[in-house]
Amino acid sequence: MNMPQPLPPDEAGLLAVVDTVLAARDLFALQAFALAVVEYDDSSNLVRGDLQDIAMACGLLKQVTKVAPCGENCYCADTGLEGQVECLEDTSVLKRAWIAVKEADDRSTQ
Ligand SMILES: [Zn+2]
Repeated sequence: MNMPQPLPPDEAGLLAVVDTVLAARDLFALQAFALAVVEYDDSSNLVRGDLQDIAMACGLLKQVTKVAPCGENCYCADTGLEGQVECLEDTSVLKRAWIAVKEADDRSTQ
């Protein structure tokens, strides 16, 4: 008896679907951040720490522990114990957003 065989995976098509899903997830995270900022209870008192908290909650920033500060100008140079500092890093979502913004900027200046 001939059983139907699965179609060979169309790798390019599969990757395009994965890209689209990832892009949708990135967009959702960025929209969630924007809405949270706009809808913040007291946006007139929104400070850097609040924005960082919202960005972490939306998956745009993550807290990392490092053995040394990023540099003398990073706030993490003033935090933590000796040999251990806490800092915030862009997640892959925010890194891709920065790349998209830079690409759009490059296109607009050509
Ligand atoms: Zn740092």
